[in-house]
Amino acid sequence: MTVWNFSAGPSKLPTEVLEQAAAEMMDWHGSGMSVMEMSHRGAEFTQICDEAEEDLRQLLGVPDDYAVMFMQGGATAENAIIPMNLLQVRPANTADYVVTGSWSAKSYKEAARYGEVRLAASSNSEIILNGQSYGAYCWVPEFSQWSVNPEASYLHMCTNETIGGVEMFALPDMQELGAADVPMVLDMSSHFLSRPFDVTKAGLIYAGAQKNAGPAGVTVVIARRDLLGKAMAVCPSTFDYVNVAEQRSRFNTPPTYGIYMCGLVFKWLLRQGGLTAMKAANEAKAECLYAALDASDFYTNKIHPAFRSQMNVPFVLADDSLNEAFLAGAKARGLLGLKGHKSVGGMRASIYNAMPIEGVKALVEYLKEFEREHG
Ligand code: PMP
Repeated sequence: MTVWNFSAGPSKLPTEVLEQAAAEMMDWHGSGMSVMEMSHRGAEFTQICDEAEEDLRQLLGVPDDYAVMFMQGGATAENAIIPMNLLQVRPANTADYVVTGSWSAKSYKEAARYGEVRLAASSNSEIILNGQSYGAYCWVPEFSQWSVNPEASYLHMCTNETIGGVEMFALPDMQELGAADVPMVLDMSSHFLSRPFDVTKAGLIYAGAQKNAGPAGVTVVIARRDLLGKAMAVCPSTFDYVNVAEQRSRFNTPPTYGIYMCGLVFKWLLRQGGLTAMKAANEAKAECLYAALDASDFYTNKIHPAFRSQMNVPFVLADDSLNEAFLAGAKARGLLGLKGHKSVGGMRASIYNAMPIEGVKALVEYLKEFEREHG
């Protein structure tokens, strides 16, 4: 039976990548060693790591004045690493946060441990838009409603809330917000590399690899170099971006195997036609799934249509008591990882880059079948 893994992360990796890793497991390119066994300072791993960085730069068009870093600790550690590195980049020593879901709420809370932070906008309330009511964290406040401190060291937001399934498809014009000098810091964990993105719009972007970029254990951070070098004294030296950037992710022993796997994913993405091709494929998949949900009264996605995530699609059944039966039936058909996050309940299908349209079609068939039997 074909298994389709809809888990939110760690999640499905491209089959080709896993096959290549398996083939190279015992002997990487005639070195006689597995990548896991290599010195992180040796010629072989240096090549693997530098190539991963170069391929990522090519995929995203990252210019030289941005550092690309492979770090550890996940996006959660970045919630602390970012304020430790960036709060002091401007004299006011304060940062602004936009909260549009549980991940950005966590970032905001953690940053407050390191200094003064301010809420610039929040969707943690119900709202009526065009006569339709949307619950907390099911929408994104209009940019014109954001109140950004022009002296802030940075403005943090999460551009794809993995749990809520809320995605931002545009970024604010900081000049229009009266905060032209405030760099944006973006948690892109769950839609990183899902479509072309102009990194120069942001001061820093970060993403846990375990959704679209590789296995858990690697956090990708891309930062404008002029923002680096002002870390607080308490910042661990291994988390000071200057050290990581200067040593090209080898200040201390990095997650070598994870970086190798990310590198294979980057090469796979380049072979697929890069991020433009990913965008088209991801749009088609999301359209297929949302159309099926919208065509039925049995399933509901509660997110404002303008912010429906193309990566994480949460939905509820008309009757919660059917959840267990739905999941059991899904599992029997090889459709895995569909249980929604415990904080929101219901279901969630994560359809990252590595999920082919066939997987989404298999899910849509099952949605129809389950509704016919239980609706
Ligand atoms: N931010 C977002 C948007 C996420 O989806 C996640 C993980 N699901 C995190 C942060 C936390 O990542 P980690 O568990 O790797 O620290």
